[in-house]
Order: sequence, then structure tokens, then C-alpha cells
Amino acid sequence: FAAMATAGLVGCGGSDDKNDSKGGGSAKAKAKVGVILPDTKSSVRWENFDLPVLKKAFEAAGIPADIQNAEGDKQRMQTIADQMITSGVTMLAIVNLDSNSGAAIEQKAKAQGVQTIDYDRLTLGGSADYYVSFDGVQVGRVQGQGLQKCLGDKKANIVYLDGSPTDNNATLFKQGAHEVLDKVSNYTKVAEQAVPDWDNQQAATIFEQMFTQQKGKIDGVLAANDGLGNAAISILQKSHAGNVPVTGQDATVQGLQNILDGTQCMTVYKPNKLEADSLVSVVTALAKGEKPKTNATSNDPQGHRQVQSILLNPVLITKDNVKQVVTDGGSGITAADLCKG
Ligand code: BGC
Repeated sequence: FAAMATAGLVGCGGSDDKNDSKGGGSAKAKAKVGVILPDTKSSVRWENFDLPVLKKAFEAAGIPADIQNAEGDKQRMQTIADQMITSGVTMLAIVNLDSNSGAAIEQKAKAQGVQTIDYDRLTLGGSADYYVSFDGVQVGRVQGQGLQKCLGDKKANIVYLDGSPTDNNATLFKQGAHEVLDKVSNYTKVAEQAVPDWDNQQAATIFEQMFTQQKGKIDGVLAANDGLGNAAISILQKSHAGNVPVTGQDATVQGLQNILDGTQCMTVYKPNKLEADSLVSVVTALAKGEKPKTNATSNDPQGHRQVQSILLNPVLITKDNVKQVVTDGGSGITAADLCKG
């Protein structure tokens, strides 16, 4: 609506405007998308995978896209959103930094006729029209299953390094992991802590404290992503703790190298290209005035609503199938990237 209103004001909807097709114009002519990624530190995925893959996906669809990164600053995300709306985006997709700031951005966008989509993280109490992500509970289950494979059935003390308490995904990951690991009677949870903003340095500090408190008696680490896992691995190595299985997520170069080295038990691969393509499919449908194809609804307990969603399937990666990440083209990682030095 905003675009139409603007077009009316500046009179750019003239009859000699080639893009102004009379009979239901194409998605290309109408859509302009803004995408705001959250930061560069909570995971390398946003800059290394999502940014290039999203760029390509929107280019391939012929839809202009302005993709920016809020660098972990909520105020900055709002400012970027404001600027994008001023510049005429018709749709805005965000990866929120927390639900409150995300909801404020979405509300403001909506008030100006801009449709919003939650990308990867659901904004609780938000007003996004659609949600595109991976099945978060399933991600957690895959982590739990991976850790169980590495530990076997022997008695094991497990510690949990959960993701940011402000990220709804972290809640889902945790739920899925516990669903699997709590069932194994030989496993004992000896410590669990959330890592604020997924900060890797804080993760190392938290893990070191856990390690000291447990007098080194830790047999397995459920770390919510590769960055947190790597923080735990660095402390384990410093303490000469021997081989303690550690989980991860995002199939980062570091995570995959750790898996090949044997210091990390598994990672969760969430083909970034599939997620980007799903976002493009939602945007394309909306631009045509069609109803996007979805395969799930997500519960927003804070907003007391169900959000139409595309939820994709995460893939368990262990030493046995690291190859899958570099061969399917969904991550942009090549075999050469995994060679150290
Ligand atoms: C994403 C993960 C990522 C984490 C930290 C989560 O919301 O789903 O892939 O590792 O945020 O950025």
C-alpha cells in the first residue's frame, strides 16, 4: 500500500511507465524487499552464509532486495527498518535481536502498509504475516540424538550451554534436546545455563565455571551452536580434559573442522539456500497478491496467535557425512575451506 500511495503522490504511475502493467503486474514490478540480519558475532552464518545466499536468491527471482546487518544493536535495527521503509520497501523480513524490539519494528512497518516476515527467529508478540525457518524443536532433537550417538549408553554427566534467552529458537532447541536426552536413564544433567546473546566469550567463561564446579567430571556438552561448542572445546583443551563429546549447530567451517579433528561430536546443518529460497517464495506470492504456500503453523504464546510458517528439516552432520555440506551447494562451503592452514 505504501508503494501505491507514494506512486500516487509523486505521479510515477503514468501510463508510459513500462513497469506499470495494467492487468495484475508481475512480482518483479511490485516487490521491493528489506532484510535485516541480526549480528555478526552470535554465529558466522549471518554474514558467511545467509547474506550471500539471500542476495543470490533474490537476484535469481528478479526482486530488488536491500540486505543489511544490525550488528547486534536493537536501536540500529529499528533505524535500518525506518530507512528501508522510507526508501520504499513493500516487505520487510527481520531476524529479531529480541522479541520486544522485533515486535516494535513490525508494528511500525505494518502501520505504514509494509508486510513483515520473521526470518529464522519467531518474534513473540509480533505481527509478522509469515515465518520462515527450520523446525527448532527438531534441531534440538537432532543435537540430542547426535550427542547420544557419541556418548553411547554409559553413565554420563551432561552440561547444557543453551542459546540466548531472548531468542525463541533457543527455547525450541533446548526443548528438543531435553526431549531426547532426559529419556536416557544413565545421563545426568549436572549444569545448564543460557548464554546471553549467544556470546562466544561469555560461553567460554560460563563453561569454565561449570568445569571447575564439576571438578572436571563432565562427559558430554550440549552446546546450542558451533560457536558455543567451540568455546567449550577451547576450555576442554586448555584443561587437558581428553575426548568429551560436544554438539553444535550451523555447519560452520570451524564446526566442521572440529568434527573432522574429532573434538566436536556433531553439528546441525540447516541448508541456508533452502531457507533463503523459502523466503523468496513467500515474498513472490505476496507480491502477486497470492497466498504463500506454508507447511506449518508456529505458536506464539505471547501474542496468543498461530503464525503461518514454512519450517524446514535440519540435517544431522557427523564425521560420516561432513561431505554432504560441501557437495549439495546449500551452504557455499567448499572442501578446500575445510582444509586447515
Ligand atoms: C539460529 C542459529 C544461530 C543462532 C545464533 C538462532 O536463532 O537459528 O542458527 O546459530 O541464532 O545466531
